Formats: sequence, C-alpha cells, structure tokens
Amino acid sequence: MLRLLCITAHPDDEAGGFGGTLLHYAQRGVETYVVCLTPGQAATHRGGAKSDNDLAQMRRKEFAASCKLLRVAGGIVLDYPDGKLYQQSFYLTVADLTRHIRQIRPHVVITMGPEGAVTAHPDHSMTSVMGTMAFHWAGRTNRFQDQLEAGLTPHRAQKLYYGTTLFTLGDRQPVSMPPTSAIIEIGKEGLETKIAAFKCHTSQAPLFPLFEEMVRRRGTQELFHLAASSTPKKMEMETDLFAGVTE
Ligand SMILES: [Zn+2]
Repeated sequence: MLRLLCITAHPDDEAGGFGGTLLHYAQRGVETYVVCLTPGQAATHRGGAKSDNDLAQMRRKEFAASCKLLRVAGGIVLDYPDGKLYQQSFYLTVADLTRHIRQIRPHVVITMGPEGAVTAHPDHSMTSVMGTMAFHWAGRTNRFQDQLEAGLTPHRAQKLYYGTTLFTLGDRQPVSMPPTSAIIEIGKEGLETKIAAFKCHTSQAPLFPLFEEMVRRRGTQELFHLAASSTPKKMEMETDLFAGVTE
C-alpha cells in the first residue's frame, strides 16, 4: 500500500492547495493523510464564533468534512497557534512532525513552498521549512532519538514536493514560486470535488467567490516542485508524484 502525506498550516489549505491531488491518489488506491499544524483560530472570517477556541472547534469539523469528500484516510489537526508558527520552538515542532512521519510512514510527502504559497502567509512558510526538516530527519537514527527509544523506527520517505503555481496574485507583493517540475491532471470531477471540499469550510464563506475564481484559473491541473528525492537524480518533468517510487 502506497501512502501520501500532505503537511499544511490551516484548515482549508488541504482543499485549496492540494485537494485535486489528494483525491486523485485516493482514487488510485493510495492511502492519503493530511497533518495540519493549526486549527485556524486566528482567521479574519469567524463564522459567528464567540472565541478562538470556538472557531478552532468549528474549523476542525469543517476540516473533517473536507477530508471526507477528498477521501483522505487520516486527517489530523494539531494545536499550534494560527498566525504564530514562526514564534514556536523550531526543534519541538519539527519533532512533532517527525513523529507523525515515523508513524504514518509515507512514501511521498507534499507541502507548501518556503515562499508561503501565492499568499506568502508566514504560517505557510514555516510549515514548509519545518515539514522539510521533518522529511529529512525522520529517516535518521541520530535525530529525535527519544522517539526511537519509545519504539518508533526511522522512516525515509522517497520524495518531497512543494505545491506551486505558474502565476502570482497581481494585487499583492510579488512572490518567488518554486519552478514547476510535476503536473498532476486532476480532471473536471477532481476540480469540482476540490471546490466542494473548500466549501465545507463554511466559516470561511466570504472567501468562496475569490477562491473559486482562483481555482478555476488553475483549472484541472495541480503543480508541484520536486524538492528532495531519496535517489540522486537530475530534474525532469513528471506527471505522477509516485514515479519511480517503490513500495
Ligand atoms: Zn493557509
């Protein structure tokens, strides 16, 4: 059984950034997982929530509904503070992500780029940086040895990809996106399901028109940049994140 792990910052990133790809691989028998670092409690749009805690609880439920539509086998929302990932302990957060990688044992890991995706959100950047270190350190016997003493074993995933785009948002400061090296065709049904999954995040309803316009502009493709490979190789264009991956 092949496994895919997607590491994100906020509930709704899984749908907006990776929804088509998550569904595409689930439909092909890959077991898919999402680990989301924050419950999105600092969002501008509050969905009538009376407190951060209230909003976090709402967004956890919305995330679960979105994951169900995308046929995600395991969706996990951690409890880091939304908007403040850069203030968290780098060591402890990477340890947490490393533990999840050693437990889930994915063959391929996808996350955002260090630029922070098209929105350049600092949480997206930190998710990328900490997720990248967890990808590399999960496989090493001399990192987070307490986890190994507790019974986990090192796990070396075979490929790491950053989600990317061939456009940036015209009304914002420019962002330097990772060059595209893989194009995943998600199909018309994939595109519609991805939009439906985003709309499970009802607390974020004011964002729906903007999101739908952006996502339709990207069409039936999701783009990625190969950031690391367990086999040394030259860059080549791919149409499958599992190309060359062995079970
Ligand atoms: Zn986000």
